[in-house]
Amino acid sequence: MSTLPKYPKVKCARCGDCCSIPVVPVTHKDVARLVKHTGLPVGKLVRFCPSSEMAYDEDSGLWIKFKSVRRAMVLRKRRERCIFQTPDRACSAYAARPQTCRTFPYSMEFDGAKVTEITLNEVMKCNAIKCSVGCIDIDTVVANVKKENREDGEYHKLVKQWNLSRYTGTVKDFLKFVGL
Ligand code: SF4
Ligand code: SF4
Repeated sequence: MSTLPKYPKVKCARCGDCCSIPVVPVTHKDVARLVKHTGLPVGKLVRFCPSSEMAYDEDSGLWIKFKSVRRAMVLRKRRERCIFQTPDRACSAYAARPQTCRTFPYSMEFDGAKVTEITLNEVMKCNAIKCSVGCIDIDTVVANVKKENREDGEYHKLVKQWNLSRYTGTVKDFLKFVGL
């Protein structure tokens, strides 16, 4: 029997906005899976964006210190859209898409392993439709949020180590440091 709290049941309207509007932060694990899946070099998949492009807190764990600026590792875009978005608004890297793409549009709170709150993410307006059938499978999203939290934790730990010890390194040095 499910012990999940009440949550908004929705299905995706396939508008494609979540693959064009936000800047998508990724972890070392996300990028490793994309490299393996696409065969593309890391440099073609990610870029390092300044804090002026992304409203994440200073202490959110994803800000990497370089010589004079701090930046976050994010998916590249082409013509204002994720490089993987197809003309019909599908994802060409669907099987290896980042964890954050797997959990949107939901956001969850936990008490240990127990989910205490499930809401719709407020990072951007999602056009998902309220539904009673054919809704996004919440159990799959819960599993993906848990994996995302675990991998975010590992990545943020690496970023912290880098920031404490290697802050004068280059992007290439950072990628090597996180195993990419
Ligand atoms: S990787 Fe796929 S799902 Fe994620 S933003 Fe890009 S196109 Fe969208
Ligand atoms: S999750 Fe929301 S924003 Fe993304 S494609 Fe579906 S309806 Fe659009």
